Amino acid sequence: MARAQRVYYDADANPEVLTGSTVAIIGYGNQGRAQALNVRDSGVKVVVGGVPDETLEQAEEDGFPTMSVREAAARGDIVCLLIPDEVQQQVYREEILPHLERGKALDFAHGYNIHYGFIVPPKETDVIMVAPRMIGVGVRSAYVEGRGVPAFVAVQQDGSGEAWPRTLAFARAMGCTRSGAVETTFAEETELDHFSEHFVWPALYRVLVESFEFLTDHGYQPETVVMELWASKEAAEVLERAADVGIFGQVDFHSATSQYGTLTRWERALPQGLRERMAAALAEIRDGSFAREWETERAAGRPVFARLKEKALRHPVNGAEERLRDVIRAAGD
Ligand code: NDP
Repeated sequence: MARAQRVYYDADANPEVLTGSTVAIIGYGNQGRAQALNVRDSGVKVVVGGVPDETLEQAEEDGFPTMSVREAAARGDIVCLLIPDEVQQQVYREEILPHLERGKALDFAHGYNIHYGFIVPPKETDVIMVAPRMIGVGVRSAYVEGRGVPAFVAVQQDGSGEAWPRTLAFARAMGCTRSGAVETTFAEETELDHFSEHFVWPALYRVLVESFEFLTDHGYQPETVVMELWASKEAAEVLERAADVGIFGQVDFHSATSQYGTLTRWERALPQGLRERMAAALAEIRDGSFAREWETERAAGRPVFARLKEKALRHPVNGAEERLRDVIRAAGD
């Protein structure tokens, strides 16, 4: 099952592939702005398409030719769909599809709409992905500092026969092949992203929030608990070290008492049956039932989403965090 992972660097990407090409960035938000600036600074012609609003004004201030989505799609050889995933289908159908002539590439930063078949481009279109593993401001600041952020790269459809060289040249222009562009598929990128969102993050957040409930029920002060568990940023620092030196490599940064406590209580910390829960999460990702559920929820005006978000914001943990932030700010004045 395991296969060699291909990772591409600057030397694997030929920037000349993009000579004479225009990149159309559709959407000038988190990713759109960072990608547009990086690609332009790499010497590639960039136009920005969007609706007349603040983000398009920002693009104009940044010196880009700005225009409607339709016009940008018509001008671009590589058309980058960097608008929210949930509006991509409609914008694609109404404004981009009519301009996808032979030889064009449609680029995504996340595989959701292609993987679940909500967008089905014509056979002659290249369907590519350069998905930086970083928020937009990080994509930009790394590029400016001469570094790059890693990215996932994938080709779902090679209509031109040149989809891979194009993908790699585009990843290079974005700065991602400086650190490494890891080959994946639209399916793998989407499913792993959803697995993190459906299992890893809820499990982690829930352990933190239930620990807060448990510890405050046992008489510990709410502000002290949130400080201990995450608000001091020690937890964020630990994860950063884990990214640098490994999840077990970072234990050396903790005291021997801490290491001993963690390693001896590892098994007891979570109940049996985790794998069954992981399997349930993965099954509904793979069979498309989560994607269908989300489409139905969106079509209904997101009632469940709104109710759950409102409930989360009423949890007592929010008050404790706010009080702690005030105290820390006051102490720092
Ligand atoms: P943002 O929400 O930051 O930006 C969206 C942009 O699209 C804004 O300029 C917005 O304008 C515009 N927009 C919204 N609706 C429409 C519409 N109907 N027609 C035209 N323009 C519209 O998006 P992200 O950058 O977060 O996400 C873009 C893609 O990148 C997604 O596929 C996402 O999954 C992926 N991605 C995002 C990452 C991130 O760092 N956030 C990381 C990796 C991948 P306005 O603000 O005025 O509505």
